[in-house]
Amino acid sequence: MEAGQLVMSCKPFAYVVWDSKLASVCDYCWTEEKPEDLKVCTGCKTVRFCQSESCRDSSKKENIHSSMECDLMAKAFPDFPSEQVRLISRILFKQRSSRHADELDKLPNGKERGFQDLEHHSDKMAKDRRLVKSFSAVKEDLATYLNEDLDETEEAEVFRIFGKIQINRFNRSQGIALYLGLSAIDHSCSPNAEVVGDLTSQVSYSLRLLEDVESFDEIRICYGSKLFVERTETRRSGLKSRYYFDCQCRSCQEVELDSMKSSLKCRLCKGCVPISSGRCVDCSLPVSDEYLSRHRILTAKMTDKQATVSNEDITEIIELFHHFDLNKFKLLEQCLAQKCPSNIICDLGLFLGIGLQVLEFHEKFYPAAHEDTVAIELKMVQILVKLNFIELALQHLQKAMKQMKTLGYNLKQQS
Ligand SMILES: [Zn+2]
Ligand SMILES: [Zn+2]
Ligand SMILES: [Zn+2]
Ligand SMILES: [Zn+2]
Repeated sequence: MEAGQLVMSCKPFAYVVWDSKLASVCDYCWTEEKPEDLKVCTGCKTVRFCQSESCRDSSKKENIHSSMECDLMAKAFPDFPSEQVRLISRILFKQRSSRHADELDKLPNGKERGFQDLEHHSDKMAKDRRLVKSFSAVKEDLATYLNEDLDETEEAEVFRIFGKIQINRFNRSQGIALYLGLSAIDHSCSPNAEVVGDLTSQVSYSLRLLEDVESFDEIRICYGSKLFVERTETRRSGLKSRYYFDCQCRSCQEVELDSMKSSLKCRLCKGCVPISSGRCVDCSLPVSDEYLSRHRILTAKMTDKQATVSNEDITEIIELFHHFDLNKFKLLEQCLAQKCPSNIICDLGLFLGIGLQVLEFHEKFYPAAHEDTVAIELKMVQILVKLNFIELALQHLQKAMKQMKTLGYNLKQQS
């Protein structure tokens, strides 16, 4: 299977609009409109649909905003249950309705996946005090909303649903959705695929390859936006507390690669000198104690939100730190986005130098194609043209276009 290919497209098993967007998003098709351009449901006076009756009718037919849900919400009006409670109850209603209980997504490898196959880690979650506390609030709200007392078995089932939502939810701009097929894709800190919006429907989600792969089972996405930028320790502890697993991916095994995210520039060959070893990875030249201490002091300044990083500091960081150093990378990214307080970026040549260093970090640590990389490549093309480096501009344009092709941009000539 080739880079750029859309491997599958999934309709959600269950989905709800964010609380904050109930007035501005159609509950069925997730189109965003001005509140006055949507029609409020006459029953519950809470959820809204597109003006044409079709979304409302389809929602009813497919039991999404069911008459049962509408009645319960009408009773709660003008309050309404939170997105979590609405999502759990939609799943409960689905399980109780014989018509929708055993929905399956077919995977490209021939396997099928139902709601019962979703990971829930409820045993581990039961030991997570913060989560148990938030569950008990959700459970109480759910019981009030449904006007039901949950017995022990029902409560255990609701806890499993709650767990499945924690682990498998996709937070999208309009709301939360669960996709049975996509939840089969495992995580890697160096992903070879990504999930992307679907052209045919706002609520659907597709899986796109960023690299060529041999088989469906090799496909990995990154749980968490731009997690691959962070250090191994940060990534692993984040994944552990959110998804309850110890990541063993390729990136998490590469100790030297990770050590480069805290590094100086070799004075001799400009290579990378990880702080942990104090030696250049290319020419083995050791770094002086004085350099190491400058790294420590400047890193402390960059990571301390109270401290201000002066223009002189930035110049020194650019000079001393290697561009694989994570804090330097984040600082340079801010400079590129013109969010950095420094005025040094008035200089086009310096701006170009910063951009090229940022791109080298991307090449090393980003997936094979990424929107941010494309944006910076194109910015560099503009600057290179301004500075009359046409040959180099073309090289960067080609790199940008290769990634754009993978990311599904339509690069065909327009007449
Ligand atoms: Zn609609
Ligand atoms: Zn309603
Ligand atoms: Zn990993
Ligand atoms: Zn060196």
